[in-house]
Amino acid sequence: MATHAHTSRSSETRIPSVDNLSQRQLRGADCVLCGITLCAETAVDLGERVRLDSSGRWFPRACKTHPEAVAAPPTRAIPAAVDLVPAQRHGWACVWCGVTLTRETGAHHVGYARGQQGAHNLDCEAWSCTGCKEEWKP
Ligand SMILES: [Zn+2]
Ligand SMILES: [Zn+2]
Repeated sequence: MATHAHTSRSSETRIPSVDNLSQRQLRGADCVLCGITLCAETAVDLGERVRLDSSGRWFPRACKTHPEAVAAPPTRAIPAAVDLVPAQRHGWACVWCGVTLTRETGAHHVGYARGQQGAHNLDCEAWSCTGCKEEWKP
């Protein structure tokens, strides 16, 4: 793949607090998630971040062993948070088919449901069963 199609900021990837990172991780030389030394082949850019402490910008990188770091941007829309039932909002049920997530159905973090109700921010993690995740092949 020669094109760099992955333009979306992977803002969903959780990055450890900069306080817990080494200088090498802050420079992008090591994976911010596991600390392994990166090379061009293994590195994934996680997008520009702003450091809260110094308000400086930095560009964390991770290795490809972290599925959340290399996940393609979701093509299947995640329902709005207001449309989810409490079990879905808590991550107990699939956001798409509503099945209760168990060891058998699988549970996959697929992004975030966003929403606002009055003054309340309803943003929550979106989880899906393996069936729904498999159907949704980018
Ligand atoms: Zn890593
Ligand atoms: Zn499902």
